[in-house]
Amino acid sequence: MTLTYRGRLAPSPTGLLHLGHARTFWIAQERARTAGGQLALRNDDLDVARCRPEFVTAMLEDLRWLGLRWVEPMITQSARLPLYRAALARLHATGCIYPCTRSRRDVLAALSAPQDGEETNEPVYPPQFRPPAGAPLSPLTEPVAINWRFRVPDGEKLVFLDGHAGKQQAMAGREFGDFLVWRKDDMPSYQLACVVDDAAMDITEVVRGADLIKSTFRQLLLYRALGLAAPAYYHCPLVIDDQGVRLAKRHDALALRTLRTQGRTPEQLRAEWR
Ligand code: GLU
Repeated sequence: MTLTYRGRLAPSPTGLLHLGHARTFWIAQERARTAGGQLALRNDDLDVARCRPEFVTAMLEDLRWLGLRWVEPMITQSARLPLYRAALARLHATGCIYPCTRSRRDVLAALSAPQDGEETNEPVYPPQFRPPAGAPLSPLTEPVAINWRFRVPDGEKLVFLDGHAGKQQAMAGREFGDFLVWRKDDMPSYQLACVVDDAAMDITEVVRGADLIKSTFRQLLLYRALGLAAPAYYHCPLVIDDQGVRLAKRHDALALRTLRTQGRTPEQLRAEWR
């Protein structure tokens, strides 16, 4: 049986969409279209401090203006907490997570040298802070009031073949360390929610920005621990501004709605990024 291609757009409503999102999402749509598949839209709104309803409205408008079409209804992560909680319970049952009371400051103080952790700003978690493997775990409470981390298999080389960037590899425990799966404010981490949803939505290929390549290694470990099949990945190069800085939601000058009010058309934008 051939699997029907299912892709997704997964913006976070923490600001206005910019040219970088537009290009990645357009590529996602093109890949779905060429494969004769479908595209879903997911509202990644778990960062309660930064997500705002007006950005959801703006993002829908901007995506439609750009010419993107998806299968309705849109999926909203904040409405799916029970699913993520069930995945947390599965991870807990397999013993691959542990409760962590260390603060970010503890972690930074324990590091001897600056570390790489760029896209999620997460330094490699010092292994000396881990409880011993196999130590009995405290039970999961509801609400969760403590951070839970995934114990990565130190020294294991993880490899995947990226549809755009080719072979990618990273060593667990060196290039990335134990990462959060659930936060003490009782919310799942991006990594866990993303895996649970991409699997539940039957996504066959994830198209997203290259800043998330390192997250992919973490997510592959979660798929394995949860007994789920991972999708294929296609990481798009990031758009940079004329100073060579990667676009972020603070680049309002390159926000799609700024460009639109200046009279630019989606066709012009597409012609420029080819
Ligand atoms: N929501 C994430 C973001 O806007 C992207 C998630 C993903 O594509 O996996 O950065």
